[in-house]
Amino acid sequence: MTDPRIVILGAGPTGLGAGYRLNEVGYDDWVILESNDYVGGLATSFTDDAGFTYDIGGHVMFSHYEYYDDLVAKLMGGDYTELEREAWVWMEDRFIPYPFQNNIRDLDPQTVFECVTGLIEAQRSEHSPSNFSEWVDAVMGAGIAKHFMLPYNFKVWATPAELMNYVWIGERVSVVNVETILRNVILGEDQVSWGPNNTFKYPLRGGTGFLYEGLRTFVEEHLHLETHVTTVDPVAKEVRTADGRTWAYDVLLSTIPLNKLVGTMDDVPESIRRAVPGLKWSGSHIVGVGIDRSISSTKNWVYFPEPEVPFYRLTYLSNYSPYMTAGPDQTLFLTETSRSEHKPEDASTIVERVVDGLVYTGIMEEDDRSRIVTTWLCSPDMTYPVPSVARDASLGTIQPWLRSQDIWSRGRFGAWLYEIGNMDHSTMQGVEFVNNVLFDEPETVWIPRGQGSEGAGIR
Ligand SMILES: Cc1cc2nc3c(=O)[nH]c(=O)nc-3n(C[C@H](O)[C@H](O)[C@H](O)COP(=O)(O)OP(=O)(O)OC[C@H]3O[C@@H](n4cnc5c(N)ncnc54)[C@H](O)[C@@H]3O)c2cc1C
Repeated sequence: MTDPRIVILGAGPTGLGAGYRLNEVGYDDWVILESNDYVGGLATSFTDDAGFTYDIGGHVMFSHYEYYDDLVAKLMGGDYTELEREAWVWMEDRFIPYPFQNNIRDLDPQTVFECVTGLIEAQRSEHSPSNFSEWVDAVMGAGIAKHFMLPYNFKVWATPAELMNYVWIGERVSVVNVETILRNVILGEDQVSWGPNNTFKYPLRGGTGFLYEGLRTFVEEHLHLETHVTTVDPVAKEVRTADGRTWAYDVLLSTIPLNKLVGTMDDVPESIRRAVPGLKWSGSHIVGVGIDRSISSTKNWVYFPEPEVPFYRLTYLSNYSPYMTAGPDQTLFLTETSRSEHKPEDASTIVERVVDGLVYTGIMEEDDRSRIVTTWLCSPDMTYPVPSVARDASLGTIQPWLRSQDIWSRGRFGAWLYEIGNMDHSTMQGVEFVNNVLFDEPETVWIPRGQGSEGAGIR
C-alpha cells in the first residue's frame, strides 16, 4: 500500500510514539483521535490545587531500547533526577530489602525455615505447572508461596494465581536459587540489585506525564482531543466518533483496550466475539497523600503482601523530585490498590483506609494525620492486563483477524500483554508500527501470541 491514510486511536505513549515517528520521517497523512482533553493515557500526571503532582501509580522509567532512551533524553534535556532503586518489602512488622525471595534473613525464624525448606523441596522435584500458582510452588516452594508470592500477587492482580498463566514472568519476577537464599540466611548477604530498573531517571518537574506533554508538541497538528471513538467499521474502513464525524483510514493503529475495540465493531465473526471473554483485567484506586512535614527516608517504594494493609505498593513520590510537593519540607506518598470482580474495593472509604494503613505500618505517625494538606484519588477501571490462562489463545484468535483487516492493536491494553506493557515497550510499539507500515520493517517488541511463540521476545 503506498501512502496509506493512517488513523491512530488513543494518545497514550503508544499513539504518541507512532505520531512522533510519523513526524520524524516527514509523513503527513495521519490523525490521532483521543477521548480525553489531555494526552498521556495511563502515563499522565496531574497537579492538584494544593500544588502536589501525582502519577497514576508509581511510574519508574527504565528502558530496553536505544531509540526510546534517545527520545527521553531529548525530551528531558538536563531536567531530571537520577535515582538508585531503593525498594523494600514490609511484612511481619518490619522492612526487608526487595526482592523478598533473595532477602528473607530478617524475618521470623519460622518463616525463614519454611521458605528455605520449601525451596529445597521444590527444586528436588520435577514439575510441569499449568498456571501461575503451580509455577510459584514449583519454582519457589510452598514457604515463599505462602508468605509472599501468593498473597502479594493477589493484591497486585486482584486475580487468583490459579487463573493466571506464567509466560509473562521474564524479567518481572526474580527467580531464586538455593545458593542465593543460603548466602542470605547463613552469610548475611543481601541481594538488592536484581532486575532491569535498579537505577532510573525521573523528570524534575511535572511527573512522568511531562514526557508525554513533551511528545505532544510533535503531533499537535494531527491531534484531535475530546474525540471519543464509538465505532470502527472494518468493511467501510471508517472510524466514527461521538461528535458525529467519520474518519476514513487505510491502516488503523488502535491503542484502546482490545475488548473495547472489538465491542465497537459490527459484524465481527463469532469466533472473535467468543475469544474476547478470555481477556481479563483489573482496575485500581490510586491514592496520593500530601503531608506538611519532611519524612526523612531514602526509600523509593515499598511492597506490602499482607492483607491487613489496603495497598500493595507505596511510592515515596517526594523522593523522586523536590518539585512533586507544593513546597520544601513536605512529603508525598502515592499508593496503589487493585480491584476486580475477585477483589472489590470500596471507593468511598479507600482514602481513609490508605491513611490508616500508612499509620498502621509506621510510615506515618499518628500526629501526621493533622499534617495532611491534600489527598488525591484516581480510580481507572483498567490498569493491569491480566495474563489469564486463556489470554494467549484469545490473542491468537483476535489479533490475526484484526491484522487481516489492516488493524494493528498495540500498547498496554491494545496488545493486552503485561510483559510488554511498560512505557518504553508501548512507545516502541507505536514507533515500530510506523516502521512496519511505511518501510516494511518487522516489529520486534510486539510479537504474536497463541501461535507457538509464547514467552519469546520478552525483554
Ligand atoms: C499503576 C500503573 C503503574 C505503572 N508503572 C509503570 C512503570 O513503573 N514503568 C513503566 O514504564 N510503565 C508503567 N506503567 C505502564 C504505562 O502507564 C503504560 O505503559 C502506558 O501508559 C501504556 O500506553 P498506551 O498508549 O498503550 O495506553 P494508555 O496509556 O492506556 O493510552 C490509551 C489511550 O487511548 C484513549 N482511549 C481509550 N478509549 C478510547 C476511545 N474509545 N476513543 C478515543 N480514545 C480512547 C485513552 O483515553 C488513552 O489516552 C504503569 C501503569 C499503571 C496503570
